[in-house]
Amino acid sequence: MLLYKKLSRFAARHVAKRYLNLGKSRGVVSFSFDDVPASACHLGAEILERYQATGTFYVCGGLTDGVEQSHACHTVQDLQNLVVRGHEIACHTFSHTNCANTGLAALEADWQRNQEFFSQHRLPKVGFAFPFGAYDLPSKIAASRRFSYSRITGGGTQIGIADLNALRAQALYAQSTDADTIFELIQQTASKGGWLIFYSHEVTTNPGPWGTTPEQLESALRIAKQLSCEILPVQHAIAFFQSP
Ligand SMILES: [Zn+2]
Repeated sequence: MLLYKKLSRFAARHVAKRYLNLGKSRGVVSFSFDDVPASACHLGAEILERYQATGTFYVCGGLTDGVEQSHACHTVQDLQNLVVRGHEIACHTFSHTNCANTGLAALEADWQRNQEFFSQHRLPKVGFAFPFGAYDLPSKIAASRRFSYSRITGGGTQIGIADLNALRAQALYAQSTDADTIFELIQQTASKGGWLIFYSHEVTTNPGPWGTTPEQLESALRIAKQLSCEILPVQHAIAFFQSP
């Protein structure tokens, strides 16, 4: 069973790829927020907008109006406000489902439930991020049929080429992502025309292990601007790289 799981993870990473060529003259930095605490919708979005930037918010309908890790989650109104202000709303399963441990029928039903939640509240639904960054080959293939792209975690930046079915993203966590790492990743992205996707959760002065501070978020934005990166939501970044 363990061997099967290892093989499945290996196959999931190396099979069923959908290539996106990077290598534009400018690097792109994207900022995303998973599960979507209320603070990401308010303070997080406001900080992005100070830099004329918009972000991507990966929503679980099952967390709407809820509390997660003692942080208040978004309301429907928060999500609709984000859309009006030009941010991207995307799917993160309805129930924050671990896609690597869930049968396909149950997973499809959970995705469907989230898409119905999006439809009910007139939210656009295009992209997807795997909760916990967890996926296997069947869920990677199924997600690629349903969504325009899928984002994982994994850390680091993407140079040269990206897999639209498993876009790599880097944590932006105040307690564990140091300033040198942020600077070096943005610098590498800028100099090589790559694509760096940050992800975080809450945005507060006193975040938990999976959140960021206003200072850390602002510092990443400032560096990206100083190094002349485009700052784009994930779906817009794909369009940027696909443009001639
Ligand atoms: Zn999540």
